[in-house]
Amino acid sequence: MTDLPKASNPLPSQVDVVVIGAGAAGIAAARRLMRPGLSILVLEARDRIGGRAWTLRAEGEGLDMGCGWLHSADDNVLAGHVEAEGLTLDQTPPPWRTQAFDHEMTRADQAAFGEAFAAFDQRVTEAAARGEDRPASDFFDPDSRWNARMDAISGALNGARFAEVSSLDYDAYGDTGVNWRVREGYGRLIARLGEAVSSVTVTDCAVRRIDRSGPVLRLETSRGELTARIVILTVPNSLIATETVRIDPPVTALLEATAGVPLGLASKVHMTVRGAGDFQPDTQLWTRTDTAETGGYHLRPFGRPMIEAYFGADLAWGLEAQGPAALFDFAVSELVAALGSDMRRRLEAVAVSGWGVDPWSRGAYSHALPGHAADRAKLRTSVEDRIFLAGEATAPVYYGTAHGAWMEGQRAADAALIALGLDPRRDDGDSEA
Ligand SMILES: Cc1cc2nc3c(=O)[nH]c(=O)nc-3n(C[C@H](O)[C@H](O)[C@H](O)COP(=O)(O)OP(=O)(O)OC[C@H]3O[C@@H](n4cnc5c(N)ncnc54)[C@H](O)[C@@H]3O)c2cc1C
Repeated sequence: MTDLPKASNPLPSQVDVVVIGAGAAGIAAARRLMRPGLSILVLEARDRIGGRAWTLRAEGEGLDMGCGWLHSADDNVLAGHVEAEGLTLDQTPPPWRTQAFDHEMTRADQAAFGEAFAAFDQRVTEAAARGEDRPASDFFDPDSRWNARMDAISGALNGARFAEVSSLDYDAYGDTGVNWRVREGYGRLIARLGEAVSSVTVTDCAVRRIDRSGPVLRLETSRGELTARIVILTVPNSLIATETVRIDPPVTALLEATAGVPLGLASKVHMTVRGAGDFQPDTQLWTRTDTAETGGYHLRPFGRPMIEAYFGADLAWGLEAQGPAALFDFAVSELVAALGSDMRRRLEAVAVSGWGVDPWSRGAYSHALPGHAADRAKLRTSVEDRIFLAGEATAPVYYGTAHGAWMEGQRAADAALIALGLDPRRDDGDSEA
């Protein structure tokens, strides 16, 4: 967190456009809006930009606390920025589909699991074609022995169990199957891209209220008030649903739609491991198949002498509520049970995420509740053509991702420009799709 913009800009009393939040969506929107004759301001509550894209520097490495993978990398608007920003694009395939050294799962078991998951996905797709929006777990084979493990994976994919996930929304997610990484960190990439708008970005500035009762919007912030013609609101849905950022008078349809697309939770523990040579670089270990309350362990990411634990859904909420030590202890207990008691002295915690307890996220990424797949589109409907929502939760296909949030920031900026009577065609030097 050393090379990020500082909260040094004083707030002007009025601007044309305020972008609330400097995560991927907010940064993308601001880059699109930067042009002569238009005054814009990005207000960010935290003391850093990037939001849920955040690379922490530790052990001489960039460790991603939030997004780490350029999902659908061959169709990802951010992929082209990596090398352009002087960072390293890593195309090592992800290890998710394999079990490290076939631990407690034969190759046949792994294949059987893969087939069960594919069959489940197929049933969900067929139901989506019929327009059905049900709990995705309705499409489990009740006799399958793999349902608990699929729910553990749902925790990582959706931040929630399949029973809480809309089958229609789950089916709408776009996955090309290609996943790459940024060696120095995905969060680092987003922060770099944010440097282009640092002159209009104010950190340590939380917006509390957007008063829409008058001809201009009036914003109350932790650093005073200002007015704007247009607001692009990119804070996580969880903060709109709970009115941490309050639109006044409230917009009932919007509040209901944010509640229909809540944030689930995923938590990470980065650990060093002694004797790392025992493990193949970039492999994946799931220690249990009989419960959803289990973590996934990425062994030696980028070949580092480290393990990255990933917990989702109820397990993550429960552990985060107990504090960072509980997450590390849980990871150690599972790795000891799977690999032997000497793992206890070989592991050391380096960094533990806490997105669920973080007041500026209150979760990791969004999923639509059963029956609420249509709510993402409702979130894309502006309020009076002057308050535009954007973020991972408003993305129709690439929801839950950094590049989905980025594209939504651009979409909202274009809508804002049209509302202002300006040409949304890119003359801002931001040439990505
Ligand atoms: C553990 C984890 C793993 C993930 N893995 C991946 C992955 O591998 N690949 C991927 O593509 N995505 C991944 N994601 C998701 C990805 O990080 C997010 O979808 C994306 O970063 C969201 O961007 P955003 O702009 O919508 O929201 P945010 O990044 O949350 O940005 C919103 C900003 O608003 C600010 N804010 C909040 N309240 C206020 C306020 N009142 N006033 C002013 N500012 C405010 C916040 O501080 C924040 O900076 C992961 C997320 C997590 C948590």
